[in-house]
Amino acid sequence: LAGIAHGQARDWNDPLEPFRIIGNVYYVGAKDLTSYLITTPQGDILIDGGLPETASQIERNITTLGFKLKDVKILLNSHAHYDHAGGLAELKRKTGAKFEASERDKPGLEAGASSEFTGVAARYPAVAVDRAIKDGDTVSLGGVTLTAHVTPGHTKGSTTWTMPVEDDGETHHIVFFCSTSVPGYKLVPKPVYPGQIEDYRSSFQKLKTIDADVFLAAHGSFFDLLGKRERLGKGGSNPYIVPGEFQRFVANSEHQFVSELKRQETANR
Ligand SMILES: [Zn+2]
Repeated sequence: LAGIAHGQARDWNDPLEPFRIIGNVYYVGAKDLTSYLITTPQGDILIDGGLPETASQIERNITTLGFKLKDVKILLNSHAHYDHAGGLAELKRKTGAKFEASERDKPGLEAGASSEFTGVAARYPAVAVDRAIKDGDTVSLGGVTLTAHVTPGHTKGSTTWTMPVEDDGETHHIVFFCSTSVPGYKLVPKPVYPGQIEDYRSSFQKLKTIDADVFLAAHGSFFDLLGKRERLGKGGSNPYIVPGEFQRFVANSEHQFVSELKRQETANR
């Protein structure tokens, strides 16, 4: 039911052939539930684990690309929902990687249930957090540095990650965006957690300051993962490089949030 609240298609966990997105960043997730592998000479970083049943797909995708599970040294997470954190426990066990995640999502991750979604459908295998991340913290490995931007609201500790990437002799800026959607949350008269509405508002302000020309996210539908993949390698520039796209998405997401809040306030009057 939580999946329906998220507005996702039924085929979100269908397999997808893994591929290189840009530079040292590879797509290893399912059709809509994303997972990213960032390779470095000192080992690899993996962002998000999909549903519990996505983990085996991610493992297969990593090896299909010619990389090794044991080379994954660090696991990261966008947010503590079952469709992005569900596979992390298995991936942690199989890779032996250190799991670094948002301090405010840590209780949810370690309980195997985020506090925003209750009910059996939203539960997933608990995963221990080895390092708690705060806003502005960085994660570095083999010359790669990711910066954490804690952008709460969708969950208490939702994290947007950014990193520069070298490709074709140029530096680009990737944003791994979490989510700022309102997946069926009741915000009025009482939000899902205290301070949630203020969190959403401040997250939109923070996201507006992020300058990125490669927009990636927790769901492929946010940035047309599949459409761009169709065009990849067919001549012209890399379709994943779209200056301005991320800011247009943030503006639209903020507009949707404001409308939803207004709708709930009116209905509650
Ligand atoms: Zn979510």
